[in-house]
Amino acid sequence: MGQGRRKFDISLKNKNYQRLRRSTGPMDTIVKLQPSARTPAPQFVALRARALALYALPFNDLLFQAHTVHRDNFGANRVQRSTLLSVKTGGCPEDCGYCPQAARYHTGVENQALLALEEVVAAARIAKDNGASRFCMGAAWRGPKARDLAPVLDMVREVKALGLETCCTLGMLKDGQAEQLRDAGLDYYNHNLDTSPDFYASIVSTRDYEDRLDTLERVRGAGLKVCCGGIVGLGETREARAELLAQLASLDPQPESVPINDLVQVEGTPLAGTEKLPWVEFVRTIAVARILMPASMVRLSAGRSAMSDAVQALCFFAGANSIFYGDKLLTTGNPDVARDDALFAALGLESA
Ligand code: SF4
Repeated sequence: MGQGRRKFDISLKNKNYQRLRRSTGPMDTIVKLQPSARTPAPQFVALRARALALYALPFNDLLFQAHTVHRDNFGANRVQRSTLLSVKTGGCPEDCGYCPQAARYHTGVENQALLALEEVVAAARIAKDNGASRFCMGAAWRGPKARDLAPVLDMVREVKALGLETCCTLGMLKDGQAEQLRDAGLDYYNHNLDTSPDFYASIVSTRDYEDRLDTLERVRGAGLKVCCGGIVGLGETREARAELLAQLASLDPQPESVPINDLVQVEGTPLAGTEKLPWVEFVRTIAVARILMPASMVRLSAGRSAMSDAVQALCFFAGANSIFYGDKLLTTGNPDVARDDALFAALGLESA
């Protein structure tokens, strides 16, 4: 068991606590347990306190601090571009409250069986020609069965052969699957923690935090790089955002990539109609992520379509140095390539 996992075990795993969370009903009726009820690990408590203190800083002070950390660790004007392709869409048995691909929600997303290898390779070529350096393949599964994984391994091999970094997000992995992906040439595996441990059961009931940690442990154990972040704007409190970032920063080693998503509300999902997170709080979240995880790539992910260029520019200043690039995220919109190129030109940003 890795050190990061032990921290989680201490900080959040209490099955009775999880059951209590599940039995508390709608999110606005949940009684918030104090962290002391969970005997949290000292490091998590310290990180959580630090995150909350950072959130509370005046905006300019926070951004100055985040930008200083950013400059100390990365070229300030370099932003990495990843392209994300949904290789299998919709029909997912999970119940993530934010996701239009869950079979149980009626969102108009059309199910798409696993794409043919040639389609994936063609999309990867286009992504590379458009300046992407990493190609992420996402499938709406709880986790891949053996028969699902075999064709994905071929995709990974072929995309890697194009000279692109490879990333997959396929759900929960069983023993041995991370090693199979690694041997096929996978560089990164994406598996988000989504939100804080406290809030998790309000968003997803078909798995728990422990399941996420199990997969992250398998990914690390296989020597793959970890892409792990979360979503804000789910109706969570600032404290929950601070706890999410503290959990991510508690991973040892910290994730190489940290995607920060702003909820894209899709009609038909339980979270449609949630109060929108103010842009200033989103920028603060990027800044706190940058400070707590100074060497990680912080990726501006879902929700970018709805952000003005000015807010995106602030996010880059606050330490975001990676974006999803291309016309579409898994099923929701993304700023088109031309708009991104114009923004990069206006800000003097280079592709990393
Ligand atoms: S986020 Fe992933 S696991 Fe959850 S419902 Fe959507 S596709 Fe399924």
